[in-house]
Amino acid sequence: MTRRIYEPYAYSDAARTECIWPLPDHPWPQLNGDIVSEVAVIGGGYTGLSAALHLAQSGVSITLLESEKPGWGASGRNGGFCCVGGDKLGFTKIAKRFGNEAAKAYFATQCDAINLVRKLLETHEIDADTHSDGELQLAHRPQAISDLKSEAEQLKTLGVSSQFLPGDALAERGMSGTFQAGLHVRLGFALNPGKYVFGLARAAQSAGADIRAHSPVTRITREGGSYVLHARTGTLRAKKLILATNGYSSDDVPNWLRGRYMPLQSNILVTRVLSDEEIAAQGWTTDLMAYDTRNLLHYFRMLPGKRFLMGTRGNISASPQGQRQMRGQIKRDLSALFPKWAHVETPNFWSGLVSLSRDLLPYIGPIGRWENAWTGMNYHGNGLAMSTWAGAQLAQLAMGETAGSQVHQSPLKRFPMAGFRRNYLHAAFLGYRLIDGPAPSSPEA
Ligand SMILES: Cc1cc2nc3c(=O)[nH]c(=O)nc-3n(C[C@H](O)[C@H](O)[C@H](O)COP(=O)(O)OP(=O)(O)OC[C@H]3O[C@@H](n4cnc5c(N)ncnc54)[C@H](O)[C@@H]3O)c2cc1C
Repeated sequence: MTRRIYEPYAYSDAARTECIWPLPDHPWPQLNGDIVSEVAVIGGGYTGLSAALHLAQSGVSITLLESEKPGWGASGRNGGFCCVGGDKLGFTKIAKRFGNEAAKAYFATQCDAINLVRKLLETHEIDADTHSDGELQLAHRPQAISDLKSEAEQLKTLGVSSQFLPGDALAERGMSGTFQAGLHVRLGFALNPGKYVFGLARAAQSAGADIRAHSPVTRITREGGSYVLHARTGTLRAKKLILATNGYSSDDVPNWLRGRYMPLQSNILVTRVLSDEEIAAQGWTTDLMAYDTRNLLHYFRMLPGKRFLMGTRGNISASPQGQRQMRGQIKRDLSALFPKWAHVETPNFWSGLVSLSRDLLPYIGPIGRWENAWTGMNYHGNGLAMSTWAGAQLAQLAMGETAGSQVHQSPLKRFPMAGFRRNYLHAAFLGYRLIDGPAPSSPEA
């Protein structure tokens, strides 16, 4: 597992040490010796765990191998926005490419994905500190107000209700920052990602899935119609394979994957507990999960314990120094967007890897020409709900049923000059920054 495109820091515990959602101690067994299962799953995030749960519930024998512990990757350290998403292309371009009906069907899968998470929380009695009735989009500059209005019109055609909030209405509703207007979309909710992923893993295990931690797969070979997954401490042999490694994938597990995904860092900063006076002074009392209209967006929400979480993307270096710079940048942005909190300490910062595709679409489908082998990946940083749904779809594929949508099945193209693809991010981020306009700056500055 050497062919990964970031510095080792990105794949180490160091990147998640300060995450406020530690992985609970649980005696997950390790792969030991040579075992056989009907389906093998690689990766213990939402994609792999949801696939494992749905397979086990249908009585299929399934073993999941995870490098670290279930939830160690993005699934146990994300912002907890359970919302529509999964692509970066957008409805209009998807409709242009696949047709209006296919775009609508794809949008419906995003709503199904949210409903699936809600159902899993209820069925398996996972208390994941949910809050937020929908999401709030916030115009970061006057020009973005018309974008919010167009978005509201488009959502209406898709049967989703939303409410446009002019600038002065934001303050009245406890949404005061430095934003020009808002759009409250009644879709989705927020949750504690650590509690959700652990609950999902326990539910899969209780349903009969064999989950092995600390069992990184270093090689996949084929023997007599079976896949053989090689880990340090043993092998797993299975007729069917599901790959669920997303941003933590390696270009050589399997080789087909090389250059078909672009890992990207997402970063989160969390304040200490805010006092009621501090919250009132800023005027941000809403519990809605929110994000601004930048391409390199800021996403934020007040956590149930009155700590404020803010995340963003846009860094290329995964070195400790690069991380320090990103921490400083989010702190500056937080101070600029919420000036009354400029003095507030921010003790927790961490990062993780999401993944993009060349076509800016999520993928659920076969691993090249391999028989009985599938993957689900590339949710463009919005995969909490979509990866859970993808896992359920992958389980269906492994049980011989059809799954996914036309959009999800679009073949996964390779980035040109795959080994150097991280460099494309320089141009992409520069372009986004030019489109987004000036970085947030404090009114006092
Ligand atoms: C900081 C951050 C904030 C985010 N915020 C949000 C948000 O608010 N809302 C939202 O919708 N999405 C968000 N996302 C994205 C979301 O977390 C991901 O899309 C989702 O978790 C992907 O799940 P996954 O199971 O596909 O991948 P992951 O959760 O990354 O799991 C992949 C797993 O595969 C394992 N693995 C890799 N290689 C091997 C191997 N060879 N052998 C065994 N195991 C292996 C890894 O250890 C890892 O645990 C965020 C992501 C990050 C990093």
